[in-house]
Amino acid sequence: MAKRDCYEVLGVNQNASDTEIKKAYRKLARKCHPDKNPGDKEAEERFKELSEAYAVLSDGQKRALYDQYGHAGVDQQSGGYSSGGFGGAPFEDIFGDIFGDIFGGGGGRRGGGRRGDDLRYNLTIAFEEAAFGLDTKIQVPRHQSCKTCDGSGAKPGTSAETCKTCSGNGQVRFQQGFFSMTRTCPDCNGEGKKIKDPCKECRGTGLTRGQKTLSLKIPAGVESGIRLKMSGEGDPGTKGGPPGDLYVVITVKNHPIFQREGNDLICEVPISFPQAAMGCDFEVPTLEGKVKLKVPAGTQSGKIFKLAGKGIPVLQGYGRGDELVIVRVETPTSLTTRQKELLNEFAKEAGEEIHPMGKGFFDKVKELFD
Ligand SMILES: [Zn+2]
Ligand SMILES: [Zn+2]
Repeated sequence: MAKRDCYEVLGVNQNASDTEIKKAYRKLARKCHPDKNPGDKEAEERFKELSEAYAVLSDGQKRALYDQYGHAGVDQQSGGYSSGGFGGAPFEDIFGDIFGDIFGGGGGRRGGGRRGDDLRYNLTIAFEEAAFGLDTKIQVPRHQSCKTCDGSGAKPGTSAETCKTCSGNGQVRFQQGFFSMTRTCPDCNGEGKKIKDPCKECRGTGLTRGQKTLSLKIPAGVESGIRLKMSGEGDPGTKGGPPGDLYVVITVKNHPIFQREGNDLICEVPISFPQAAMGCDFEVPTLEGKVKLKVPAGTQSGKIFKLAGKGIPVLQGYGRGDELVIVRVETPTSLTTRQKELLNEFAKEAGEEIHPMGKGFFDKVKELFD
């Protein structure tokens, strides 16, 4: 059956920790557990999907494979998700063709083709590109409809035959006790048709590997871990089914000067003790070039200057964050003899008077212990 993206299913970010994933799973599983929603097919589906997604993301090795290759990576390894652990199966069997959905590739719904798988694409962008947005093109490896058989899966010149077991209905009736029930035809997986001569190119699947170039517009203000959904750009559906979706997962590179906190930019600027004491003008970097900043005389280390509106644009909103310039007063680590003389002189001249913070502190210490 067509698979939604595992992170999407659990409602977590791609960077989510194991604990976060576990928590999300527990919360959602409680909500849609079949025991709590008897007869609710939607909840059942949701629970199954949830368990499958959790099986992948809770296993470090599977998760790594999934991150790199998507569903294809984990399907090959495990031979498909387990359908075990699905309590009370015979009961459910009576009321619906849930087994058809598990084993029949989801093709059991009348006439409906199979939806294509969701795909993931990891994209790393520069800090500035995340801040201001980016128009780019990406090459996405994905399946495409087989050109040899036109996606039918049947060898050219042949076509699929109507399934004899179900007479093309995709469903078979059977009797169990008083009930007359239908279930997905096991012979054709509910498709109503069987391919006798499969296409050699795609081995009857109707799909071949390929890649597509897509134009992508990344909005201003994105952060690492954000997933952009491109509807209908996943794997194509087969037998007339709709395509899956593509999720572009963004990773933003670190910046050599700026750090990001929400929509604010943090920039630490080192200044010397004389500059801090006497005040100075200097240029600070912003995302759009340098601006002048006036540091007043007597500025303490750690003082924050706000450059309003010089931060990151708000994602899908209005306005921008601020740039916060944090001043760090640097203490010289090696002094010449002359510099030492001058500093000694300075210290004698200064006394305690010009260090209000220091004085206040030592006064408090004195009060505390004397
Ligand atoms: Zn083919
Ligand atoms: Zn059949």
